[in-house]
Amino acid sequence: MEKFTGNFTQQEPIPDEAIEAAVAVMKSGRLHRYNVVGDDPGEVALLEQEFAAAIGATYCVAVASGGYALACALRAVGVKPGDRVLTNAFTLAPVPGAIASIGAMPVFVGVTEQLVIDLDDLAGKAGQADVLMLSHMRGHLADMDRLMAICDAAGVKVIEDCAHTMGAKWRGRFSGTDGLVGCYSTQTYKHLNSGEGGFLVTDDDEIAARAVILSGSYMLYGRHLAAPGPEVFERVKYHTPNVSGRMDNLRAAILRPQLKRLKAQCEAWNARYRAVEAGLRGAPGLTVVERPEQEYFVGSSIQFLLFDWAEEKIAAVMERCAARGVELKWFGGAEPSGFTSRYDSWRYAPSTRMPASDRVLKAILDMRLPLTFSLEDCALIARIIRAEVGAVYQGETA
Ligand SMILES: *Cc1c(COP(=O)(O)O)cnc(C)c1O
Repeated sequence: MEKFTGNFTQQEPIPDEAIEAAVAVMKSGRLHRYNVVGDDPGEVALLEQEFAAAIGATYCVAVASGGYALACALRAVGVKPGDRVLTNAFTLAPVPGAIASIGAMPVFVGVTEQLVIDLDDLAGKAGQADVLMLSHMRGHLADMDRLMAICDAAGVKVIEDCAHTMGAKWRGRFSGTDGLVGCYSTQTYKHLNSGEGGFLVTDDDEIAARAVILSGSYMLYGRHLAAPGPEVFERVKYHTPNVSGRMDNLRAAILRPQLKRLKAQCEAWNARYRAVEAGLRGAPGLTVVERPEQEYFVGSSIQFLLFDWAEEKIAAVMERCAARGVELKWFGGAEPSGFTSRYDSWRYAPSTRMPASDRVLKAILDMRLPLTFSLEDCALIARIIRAEVGAVYQGETA
């Protein structure tokens, strides 16, 4: 019986070029982003300029984490304590957590069988809030043309959580550039790795200026290279609190060389994704997620669905796969576990049951695809899942 011996949480090493840049920052002693000398703009300011250019945004602010970027975006667009914010029922805890962190209230919108936000449910709930915090959970992009039309018609501002879609595109437009603000994470498990870190991008002058000051710029905003001019800061500087969450030069030094390789990395993830998908497609009892042709996704993780399976059978699949070295995560579990939790686990944010979404959440099995896996590893993983799903499924129907 074949076994897989790789590690689902092991990322690639930091590239040598990035290590050398990090060592140079440490040797200089100038780790704080505003601690620069002469005409050197510093690693963080350069990274912001390069990230904005890479995805076609006007402004970019680098911050301490993806979760910080989300909360900063909410503040920068004017969300106040007590406001309601629409968000996905299928997402990870930092998303409702960012909304709660500023005293606002998440209103959950359902998930479809394609694992994207349910646009009919969104249209029905759009009157309940002025802001949608849209999570492109697990890299699945909703129809962004229809989503933006619904939100524009209802006067709903869109903040995109692109923690899983850095480098992805909808009809050629980079994820994070359709909404008013795009937020990204550079935490170890995401598409760039600085341990912790994040970005916020926008084309809006005042939101950009507020985000810079919020991030902890004091009155040093003139040192930013991907920010609006001083006249915009003049309009907002007395009314915007400093909520420190800056990125430092050390992390930025590690990220700049990685950003240059992002496109190639995305292609490498997708080759792995396609290898697993090909091995799973057509397996009895199992549904793969068909990806729309308008979507360029980044397959850094893969999901498949076991619709209407009994919980014990899903548990049996997970146990049998784990025994052969394949770690699956289940989003349907009643108890939050590891990185996964369900919308009703966030009891600080009351929700009403969404039966159609609950059926989807119960069916989702999820797996990371780190670039340390080879294509052969991916084919082996798919063979193991296919065999174990098949064994449990046949047991069920026999
Ligand atoms: C990781 C993640 C975040 C938050 O990023 P951090 O950098 O860990 O704060 C937000 N949303 C989703 C969907 C994530 O997976």
